[in-house]
Amino acid sequence: LTPVLAVDHVKKVYTTGTRHVEAVRDLHFDVARGELVCVVGPSGAGKTTLLRCIAGLMDVTAGEVRLEGSAISGPPRGMAVVFQEYGRSLFPWMTVRGNVELPLKEKKVPRARRTVLVDEALATVGLDHVHDSYPWQLSGGMQQRVAIARAVAYEPHILLMDEPFAAVDAQTRADLEDLIRELWARLRVTVLFVTHDIDEAVYLGERVLVLSNSPTVVLEDVRIDLPGE
Ligand code: ADP
Ligand code: ADP
Repeated sequence: LTPVLAVDHVKKVYTTGTRHVEAVRDLHFDVARGELVCVVGPSGAGKTTLLRCIAGLMDVTAGEVRLEGSAISGPPRGMAVVFQEYGRSLFPWMTVRGNVELPLKEKKVPRARRTVLVDEALATVGLDHVHDSYPWQLSGGMQQRVAIARAVAYEPHILLMDEPFAAVDAQTRADLEDLIRELWARLRVTVLFVTHDIDEAVYLGERVLVLSNSPTVVLEDVRIDLPGE
């Protein structure tokens, strides 16, 4: 069975003038369909580098990233990313509905189907009543729910999350973590969730990849038995 995501012996060297920084040395793992994988490591462990390579925002120095078996070059379709800075990722001049719908327009999803996907996604994240609000009228936690709805509506092969809850308060963060677990269990989306917080990784993931400090390799690949599953 082809994994959704294959990170195949990826190496990334940053070159600035004559200086070379080997950020990622030999990163190697697969993510199977329906997995919820957390990637955890301290600052400087190469998490951002890894995500940029997976999202096709940066070329790898050696090795290969494959999505559904095809090598990635440039930003691929079929991925949705939720970033830490919700304020940066939503367009303030568009309504909530407009923000969630935009990637579907770019994907050329027909209008009637777009309406269904947007309504379902917003209901899924518990935001039935704010379709016509603007992001700046919502709390940080609600804005992050909009970003999650937008990612889910896109029906991605894999949902990438880059420290998505680092900027919200503890209670909101706990609520959002539960929301991700619930979405994952219900929709069976494949999730790669990156965090520097080991507690969050262990709480959220059914599998946790622990990265070493640079140059990055996978130190541990742990499966976690979730209660009630
Ligand atoms: P993390 O996201 O886990 O904090 P990064 O991927 O940002 O880790 O960084 C991994 C390593 O690569 C660190 O040593 C960092 O200093 C280095 N690095 C990251 N980006 C660059 C860059 N643009 N140029 C040079 N070195 C970089
Ligand atoms: P993170 O929040 O993931 O830890 P960082 O604060 O490490 O991110 O990095 C912020 C930005 O600085 C990124 O664009 C990263 O590529 C860049 N960067 C990190 N380390 C270096 C470095 N040693 N040299 C140049 N750029 C770097």
